Amino acid sequence: MIRWDAHMCLPLHPQASFEPIDQLRTGGLSYVSINVGMDMNPVSQILQVIAGYRANIAAHPDKYVQVNSVADIERARAGGQIGIGFDLEGAMPLLAQPEMVALYARLGVRQIHFAYNRNNAVADGCHDEVRGLPPLGQRMVVAVNAAGMLMDCSHTGRQCSLEIMAASSQPVVFSHANPLALAEHGRNITDEQIRACAATGGVVCISGVSKFLGVAEPTVADVARHVAYVANLVGVAHVGIGLDNGFSQPGLDDTPPGDFDPSYWWPRSAGYGGGIGDIRYTPIDTWQQLPQALQVVGMSTAEADQVMGGNMLRVASQVWPTTRHAA
Ligand SMILES: [Zn+2]
Repeated sequence: MIRWDAHMCLPLHPQASFEPIDQLRTGGLSYVSINVGMDMNPVSQILQVIAGYRANIAAHPDKYVQVNSVADIERARAGGQIGIGFDLEGAMPLLAQPEMVALYARLGVRQIHFAYNRNNAVADGCHDEVRGLPPLGQRMVVAVNAAGMLMDCSHTGRQCSLEIMAASSQPVVFSHANPLALAEHGRNITDEQIRACAATGGVVCISGVSKFLGVAEPTVADVARHVAYVANLVGVAHVGIGLDNGFSQPGLDDTPPGDFDPSYWWPRSAGYGGGIGDIRYTPIDTWQQLPQALQVVGMSTAEADQVMGGNMLRVASQVWPTTRHAA
């Protein structure tokens, strides 16, 4: 069976250690999507990160597979490796140019959402004023669909996310977002958003971040509780896992250059305390504990397999090209 983590973060530094990925690989993960940049990161930093990560993957073919298609994930699983794809958190790295989407796709970016908490020229963020999807955003949705990239609506404003889902000709995912009904936070999503995502054929992947689970010290049972809520609302076919684990590494400073202000991106008014330093993640062995935790909330083994990867594999099989020229 396929085990799919729809979102995680290493230091945004070309020399970041892949030690956390090694742990996922030995824990049985088939695929992980790694963040390569957010709206606060300049394109120069993002390109250096992509180059560094790609070199690390290429240097260790015994452990990693750079994923360009679903077939690469099957190959990684068969060989005991882990498939790695990249994701972008925000459309600012696209520089208002839709052709940039296909370029990032060739560099290994398999998934993108358009805004990181704050509004930009392409979309609304979830912690900013409501405007809706502008014409440039509509064109970007078309470009994402055409490039065979997963359209993601995490971190995006509610109204804007509904308009993106309506505009997309392909299934849309939330790679890391939790039901608002279980935890009151601006990053979490309404039942209307969850239903709209399911209507596209997409998947809501549950995050393991404490604030979004609505607890101080998150456990695997909390993740399972949020999974069960979405499954009860729209069906088990529309739930996945995107734990959003973050790993800082001593000696690697990945702070964006310039006058970076954390309290702008993670506003106190939205409950962040002026940064993300106070968040907690689920235990490192979450993937090992998940089958049992999903059984406790009433899922069969087959349903748990869907949640832990089968559903995202289905969506990627629909969205990603069957073959893709190596970049
Ligand atoms: Zn995120």
